[in-house]
This record gives sequence, C-alpha cells and structure tokens, in this order.
Amino acid sequence: MSIAETHELAVVGIADLTPLMRRITVTGDSLATFECVPGQDVVLHLTDDSGNGVRRRYTVRNLDNAGRRFDLDFVLHGHGPGANWAATVAVGSTLQVFGPRGKVAMSDARWQLFLGDESALPGVAEMAAAMPASSEGVAIIEVQDANERQPIPGPLDVRWVFRDGAPAGTTSLLDESLRDLSVPDIDRHAFVFGESRVVRRLRDTLRSRGLGAAELTAKGYWNLGRAMRD
Ligand SMILES: Cc1cc2nc3c(=O)[nH]c(=O)nc-3n(C[C@H](O)[C@H](O)[C@H](O)COP(=O)(O)OP(=O)(O)OC[C@H]3O[C@@H](n4cnc5c(N)ncnc54)[C@H](O)[C@@H]3O)c2cc1C
Repeated sequence: MSIAETHELAVVGIADLTPLMRRITVTGDSLATFECVPGQDVVLHLTDDSGNGVRRRYTVRNLDNAGRRFDLDFVLHGHGPGANWAATVAVGSTLQVFGPRGKVAMSDARWQLFLGDESALPGVAEMAAAMPASSEGVAIIEVQDANERQPIPGPLDVRWVFRDGAPAGTTSLLDESLRDLSVPDIDRHAFVFGESRVVRRLRDTLRSRGLGAAELTAKGYWNLGRAMRD
C-alpha cells in the first residue's frame, strides 16, 4: 500500500449514476503509483460556505494507475461542503486529496455480510468485487427508492430496502432486514457502514447474535443532523 500523501488532482469526468449519486472522475500524475485496498478512502480538502477549509472522506473507486485516475461517488444529499462540491463542480476544476486513508481490511471468511446506506455503496461495491471466488454472502443496502439501485459486482446476494420518502439515517429498515436474516455460525464476517447511530445499533445486534470482534467491522460514515468534524 502506498504511503498516505497529498495529491493534486483535476476533475476529468462528471456523471450521474442515479438521481442521488454523482460520480466525479479525477486524475493526477501521482496516481500512477497510488495504491489502496478495496474500501479505502481519501480525504478531500474543501471549503465551507464561509470559505473555511474542511475535510471530507470519500471512497476510492475504480483505481486505474495506468490511466492515472480514480472515481469518487458522492451522495447528493443537499447539505454540506462535500455534497455541495459534487453538485456544482465542473470538469477542469482542481482538487487536493490526502490518502489513502482507512483501516478497512478485506475478509477471507466464506460468508460475508454488508449492511449500509448510500454512503456505503461505493465501499461495498469495491469490496464485493474483490471478494474471493470461494466466498458468498449478502448485501442489504438502504437507499431512497428503486431508482437508487446500482450494480454490485461479485458473489453477493444483493437486497435493497427503500426509505420511500423518509430521511436517510432515520429508519429501522436495516434492523428489520437483519432480524429476518439467517447468519452462519462460523466462517463469517459482517461489515456495517453508514449513519453512525444506525451503525452502532446494527453492530450491537450482530454482537448479541454472537459475532465476535474479529468477525465484525463497523464504521460510522456520517452523523444525522451534524456535519462531519475534521
Ligand atoms: C471512510 C469513509 C468513506 C466514505 N465514503 C463515502 C463515499 O464514497 N460517498 C459518499 O457520498 N459518502 C462517503 N462517506 C460519507 C461522507 O464523508 C459524509 O456523508 C460526509 O458527512 C459528507 O460531507 P458533507 O460536507 O456532504 O456533509 P456534512 O457537512 O458532513 O453534513 C451536513 C449535513 O448533511 C447530513 N449528511 C451528511 N452525509 C449525509 C448522507 N450521506 N445522507 C444524508 N445526509 C447526510 C449531515 O447529517 C448534516 O446534517 C464516507 C465516510 C467515511 C468515514
């Protein structure tokens, strides 16, 4: 894995994957040697409405060293410097990022579970694509509605749950799906990413169902009603 460092990048592509998910493709000479493991992220240096510097984390997707580029997929949730930057940036704009970041490690467990919301989708897709061919598992992803579904490569049985108008981070849809899910007794690993309180709840449920610390990776990606802190 490469040492985390600062990269000066330029935006070379903007595409809407779904109504609420925008892909920004960035390029820079230093990406020729950039390395990261699936699910790792970079820290974007952005400015808020008052012009103050802020940092926000986004998952690296589709790293292409030969092309010196990767993609960043943004949830267009409508508030905050990260979502606003993605909603308004133009091809040719520049961006400074620091990375790779993140302690996420792939699992070699035969059965793997992924639980998360839209913010987790980029990481889940990257990790699912890299799962060992001998493994299997389930991804349960909460999104706004059916238009927000995206292809998730790899061996997972992907199940979508829809908020249908409820704000992100406020439902118990993932909890309910987990309640009905049968989890193998051994050779298993669960990954949980998304809104922090939802993640804590799901992590506690998985613990109560017997998953040990080594079988569980849980990380809050954002906080309902509160901006991310640097
Ligand atoms: C390791 C890691 C990887 C991540 N990867 C991605 C990624 O690939 N794509 C991605 O979109 N996000 C990703 N996130 C989440 C992203 O960093 C947060 O959503 C962050 O808060 C966005 O910053 P912002 O400036 O848009 O909003 P902030 O200024 O942090 O928050 C402003 C308001 O928006 C709300 N808000 C923040 N995020 C969301 C959301 N997803 N849905 C609804 N409301 C929200 C907050 O509750 C707050 O009220 C990742 C986070 C981590 C820690």
